[in-house]
Formats: sequence, C-alpha cells, structure tokens
Amino acid sequence: MQLWLLLALSYIFLVVVSAGSIWFFLTHVLAGVVTGPDFIYLTWVVIGLMVAVLACIAVLFATLGHLIVRPLRNLITAMEAFAASGTHSGIPVPSAAPHEVHALVSAFADMAQRIDTAHSHDAEISRVKSDFISTAAHQLRTPLTAIRWAIEALQKSGLTPDQTALVDNALTKSKELVAIVGTLLDISSIESGKYQYKFARVDLAKLAEGVSHDFAHLANDNHVSLLYVSDGVPKPAVRADQERVTWVLNNLIENAVRYTPAGGSVRITLEVSGDRVYMRVRDTGIGIPATERGNIFERFYRAGNAIAKENEGNGLGLYIARQIANDHGGELSFAPNADGPGTTFTLSLPVMH
Ligand code: ADP
Repeated sequence: MQLWLLLALSYIFLVVVSAGSIWFFLTHVLAGVVTGPDFIYLTWVVIGLMVAVLACIAVLFATLGHLIVRPLRNLITAMEAFAASGTHSGIPVPSAAPHEVHALVSAFADMAQRIDTAHSHDAEISRVKSDFISTAAHQLRTPLTAIRWAIEALQKSGLTPDQTALVDNALTKSKELVAIVGTLLDISSIESGKYQYKFARVDLAKLAEGVSHDFAHLANDNHVSLLYVSDGVPKPAVRADQERVTWVLNNLIENAVRYTPAGGSVRITLEVSGDRVYMRVRDTGIGIPATERGNIFERFYRAGNAIAKENEGNGLGLYIARQIANDHGGELSFAPNADGPGTTFTLSLPVMH
C-alpha cells in the first residue's frame, strides 16, 4: 500500500472516530446536562473545536507527506532510473525533512557514486587490456606472416618425405597462429567499439543454408549428419553485417559438428517471433556440463569435456560471437536439449524494417 494512501486512510479513520465520539458526547452526555439554546451553543462550540483540531491534523499529515513521502518517492524514481540506465542525479529533499530521510538519500548517492567509480575503473582496466592485446597482436602478425612465407618457400625446396611431414606440420601450426592473432585483433577492435559494422538487409535463411553447405565436408569426415531444415515459410530479412554474421554462423555450426560424436546430428532451423528472426543450431553432441555453463561465453574458456574431445580450440569464438550478436541488437544464448543429449545455440537478430 502506498504511504500517501495509508496517511489518507488514517486521516479518514480519525475523522470518523472523532465525529462518532463527538456525536456520542453531545447526545448521551451533554444533552443530559444542558438543554435549550445553551445546548445548541455548546454543540456549535464542540463541533467548531473538532473541525479546528481535524484541520490541524490535516496540516500535520500534509507536512509529513511533503517531508517524508515525497523525498522517498523521488528516491525510488532515482533508484529505478539508476538500475535501468546507470545514471543518477541529485534527489531534492526539503531541509526540514527528518534526519533519517536525509541519511537514506545521501547513502544512496554515496552508493551510486561508488558504483560509478568502480565502473569507470573496470572500463579503464578493460581498455588497457584491449590496447595491450591489440598491440601484442599487431607486433606478432608481421613476424608470423614472414615465418609462414618462409615455411611455404621451404616446402618447394625438394625435401625428403620426413622433412616434408615436419614442414607441413609447421605450416599448419603457423597458419593456426596467424588465425589466432587475427582473432585477437578482431576482439580488440570489436571490444573497443572501433569495428565499423556494415549493416544491410541479410537473408538469414540463405546464409544458414550456405554455411551448412560449407561445413558438409567436415560433417562428412566426422560422420555427423548436418542439415539446414527449412519450414518452407519465407523469412523476413534481418539487419546485419553479412560478413560478421557469417563468422558467427561458421563458429556455431563448426562447434556443433566438432563437439558431436560420430553418428550424431546437427540441425539448423529458423523461426520468426515478434520482430526477430531466431536461428537455432541443435546438436546431439557432448553437451556443456552444468557447472561450466556460466563460463562458456568468457574469453579463452573451454569446458573440460570439450578439451578432452578436441584438443584444438582457443575458447574465443563464442566470446566474439556474443559480442557481435549484441552489437546487432540481437542475442546469442544456449540451452541443453530437453529431450536428449546435446545443446541448442540460438542466435536472434532484429528484422530489417
Ligand atoms: P572453441 O570451440 O575454440 O574451444 P568457442 O568459444 O567456440 O571456442 O567455444 C567455447 C567452449 O564452449 C568450447 O570449448 C566448448 O567447451 C563449448 N561449446 C561450444 N559449442 C559447443 C557445442 N555445440 N557443444 C558442446 N560444447 C560447446
């Protein structure tokens, strides 16, 4: 119940009780002692006194409301705004308000200030980390590319079969390193907000079909059936950066295939709900252990069962994929399958109007 209403109800209760008491006093007490014009005169005096007292109480209640209820309401509005947007401004409190109200409002202002300071500290640490990653990745890229060219040149220099095997392996590893450095550069540009998205109309159904086609080979090699399942209903275009969303789809579908044992399946479906298109990648794979689900979108995180199944992987894909989904005004989430083993990842993107 609102405090204003409580005050108003208390006041009405007071009026009723006072009126009842006065009525009882006039009819049962005064009427027995005084009669005639004196009774009428005294009745008016008593009623006048009662109205005056009730008027004073009304003023007292209104003042209480002004000094306590209004600042509390302002505090609640400020707290809701802080929770929603993280911004806060001064809360007006009448100087005559009780000490407790002043203390409450200033405790909130202190707390909001501390949270602000902690946020800017976190943002600064995050910026320094991003800068460091970006600088390190830039520094690594040039020598790594040179090493890769050197290995490629070595490959063509008439090697023995043993040497060829070694050099092939070195080339594969150097390509992986170049890819990791590229990913780190992607992370720092996306995190720092420097990445320029090129938003356009994208046909997600066509994209999903194309990407599943691209992974047919990998699925075949792993004996996993990979299928884009269309419901035949045309889907509206989404607002997306085609290159980045393709990257996300590649990541989700490649993960699904890699983390599904032979004989399993991966199904990709699309659904429209509200003003979003939802793409689901459902696999019958190893699943994500319940205790590790909270960490899956963290940088470099790989679940224990994934490391045991696939020693290759860097735990960066989902982290970037979620950033990209968020930057699109969409979402990336996952849930264990309710009716069997495996996981379903869901990417939602806003429809382009
Ligand atoms: P990577 O696959 O290179 O390890 P990701 O960031 O793409 O990195 O994925 C992070 C982790 O999330 C994986 O290591 C794995 O533990 C888990 N994961 C992602 N997709 C799946 C999936 N379809 N099934 C089971 N685990 C998954």
